[in-house]
Amino acid sequence: MFQHQVAGQGAYLRPRRRMAERLASADDGGRLRDALATVPRHLLIPEALRGEAYRDVALPIGDGQTISAPGVVAAMTAALELRGHETVLEVGTGSGYQAAILARLASRVVSIERLPGLAARARTALDRLGVANVVIYLGDGSLGRPADAPFDAILVTAGGPAVPAPLLDQLGPGGRLVGPFGSREAQRLIRVRRTRDGRYVRELLGHCRFVDLIGTHGWVD
Ligand code: SAH
Repeated sequence: MFQHQVAGQGAYLRPRRRMAERLASADDGGRLRDALATVPRHLLIPEALRGEAYRDVALPIGDGQTISAPGVVAAMTAALELRGHETVLEVGTGSGYQAAILARLASRVVSIERLPGLAARARTALDRLGVANVVIYLGDGSLGRPADAPFDAILVTAGGPAVPAPLLDQLGPGGRLVGPFGSREAQRLIRVRRTRDGRYVRELLGHCRFVDLIGTHGWVD
């Protein structure tokens, strides 16, 4: 019975709700809070770490990568200002957790991961959760995905030296891009808004440290 609880989507309901209440306001009608209260983070991380799933900490997910702390996921997601109709590009699928959150707040999520093992594990986990509006591609997300552009929102979840130019090109009018850019040791969390008349307006949201964005418009492996 306990075993069944631990494995299921219904487990950890209370800690998950508490986490959601702590991290998201009701400003957006409670949509982000509901997404955080619904997506079972414990099923997207290594089994041995499940007890840590609803603490506000980053956790290792294998292949030297980490799942961001829920507070960081909440802040970055809120900064995208999703209303429900958007097509979102995520660079860095990792565990699939951020993609599952975006999937509840937008219409379609295109997520790119460079490491095959992580991409495959995330796909399996999202299928198990019945998340049907996320497509995962293996490749260099710093190049974006011209075939699916323009995007209403772009979320970069790995830290690069600068905002990749192809991602700016693939952002639609009125679109928002959020991501960490700076040195390998420390980054600024930046939001870039593409105005209707085609200008790019940049805002500093905070300071952070992410794993490396590796690729053509990122760091060298
Ligand atoms: N959003 C993820 C966070 C994963 S950490 C989550 O919710 O778990 C960042 C991920 O970006 C890592 O999995 C890393 O392999 C991946 N990554 C780094 N550079 C990349 C690139 N150029 N294209 C695609 N993925 C990349």
